Amino acid sequence: MIADSLVRQFKTIVGDDNAWTDATDLHTYSYDAAVVDPVQPGLIARPTTIEALGKTVRLCNDNNLPLTVRGAGTNLSGGTVPLPGGVVIVTNGMKSILEINEADMYAVVQPGVVTAKLAAAVEAKGLFYPPDPGSQAVSTIGGNVAENAGGLRGLKYGVTRDYVMGMSFFDVEGNLVKSGSRTVKCATGYNLTGLMVGSEGTLGVFAEIILKLIPLPAHRKAMMAVFESLERASETVAAIIADRIVPATLEFLDNFTIRAVEDFSKAGLPKDAAAMLLIELDGHAAQVEEDAARVEALCRTMGATSVRVAQDAAERDRVWAARRAALSALAQLKPTLVLEDATVPRSRLPEMVVAIQRIAKRYDLTIGTFGHAGDGNLHPTILTDKRNHAEWERVEKAIDDIFDDALKMGGTLSGEHGTGLAKCRYLEKETSAGTILFSSRLKRALDPKNILNPGKIIAAKAYL
Ligand SMILES: Cc1cc2nc3c(=O)[nH]c(=O)nc-3n(C[C@H](O)[C@H](O)[C@H](O)COP(=O)(O)OP(=O)(O)OC[C@H]3O[C@@H](n4cnc5c(N)ncnc54)[C@H](O)[C@@H]3O)c2cc1C
Repeated sequence: MIADSLVRQFKTIVGDDNAWTDATDLHTYSYDAAVVDPVQPGLIARPTTIEALGKTVRLCNDNNLPLTVRGAGTNLSGGTVPLPGGVVIVTNGMKSILEINEADMYAVVQPGVVTAKLAAAVEAKGLFYPPDPGSQAVSTIGGNVAENAGGLRGLKYGVTRDYVMGMSFFDVEGNLVKSGSRTVKCATGYNLTGLMVGSEGTLGVFAEIILKLIPLPAHRKAMMAVFESLERASETVAAIIADRIVPATLEFLDNFTIRAVEDFSKAGLPKDAAAMLLIELDGHAAQVEEDAARVEALCRTMGATSVRVAQDAAERDRVWAARRAALSALAQLKPTLVLEDATVPRSRLPEMVVAIQRIAKRYDLTIGTFGHAGDGNLHPTILTDKRNHAEWERVEKAIDDIFDDALKMGGTLSGEHGTGLAKCRYLEKETSAGTILFSSRLKRALDPKNILNPGKIIAAKAYL
């Protein structure tokens, strides 16, 4: 419980209507999209100005209240599960696109701007903001930057990190820190922007973010290649890249996921296919047409039973909407859905796909697999019921095995979903004891009282 006098101080800063302590509100902000036990905060604050944001952070620090910033709460690693009785700062009151500069190709946004809204606003000016997490219709730029979110276009265009030119953020004492600039080059000071991207709300609170924009590709072509063998589909991914073609998007869905998505979205996906690849090429029309013909031929050579090229923008959009619905479609099938994020060098993708199947069999679990195959980033998705304790134990073992196999192949625990609470206990497996020590020293130096999103990235026990 936060004392009434302190609640009044929060209300003075953010306004009476923007600080909540009702049980229903506290419950609403106790969980996110990850399978992590909910934790009830003590207060929700919704600042609507940069000044109020800074003062809210300072008030938390002055009163030793742990704070967790929250955009849309769609993260899949428990990054916005608060501490008991702590403060959740919601950024959806700071959702202005402050500037879109066409001449210098950048945008300046507040952290609560919804990703798809920014993408649409810049597209209307012939510009392109490529990072497009599957959640883009609701996720925020602040959350994307804090997670270094990826998405469907990572293969050609990279991830959020590649588009953050600079930012201003509040440190734990509420001091405004500025880093980076609106220029293409900036070598002033430490690269604090690099440090803050992916910091999951543990080092500071973003107030404004400067994002790089690029010209909108003139032409796009999407196609769907259907395979009778899972292995052949995954081998085709490597074959396309080996042929020096870099599609904007190269997605993989196994049969289980195809059936779930088709039942959910009725987009016309082939339910009997063992696997399929969804591919989009973009750029100048002539180049796109040439590459599309090569990709189509390659898919057929690799054993695709059919390759369908989207005939118009409506068909293309339908296919991508279906792909974006994969998580929601799978979530309908069982009470608990654990979506993992293991990523391997893409040449090892066929091995990883087989390894996941083996693990599903080993632990007698249902695992649907889809993901950003061109990035080697698979989402093995375990469908289970956390209340079934015996099965849940097998799920935990399966997750361990998925991580172990990914690491053996030179991969990583998380391609894009971040560490949060869900993966901090695995961090040393991928890195080293030195990494944990270095990271916790950094955190302690910048946040001595461990106020900023405690327990995320660095496990609570490693910090003490
Ligand atoms: C259906 C679905 C599809 C998804 N697809 C993808 C995908 O393709 N690629 C991908 O990368 N992820 C994906 N995700 C995961 C998730 O959407 C991303 O991690 C996204 O970046 C989270 O944005 P958010 O606004 O919901 O942030 P939140 O979940 O609210 O927060 C995420 C983290 O950011 C921190 N944070 C938020 N705002 C700030 C701020 N102003 N300052 C400092 N820290 C802040 C939070 O404390 C937390 O640690 C998906 C999730 C779902 C549910």
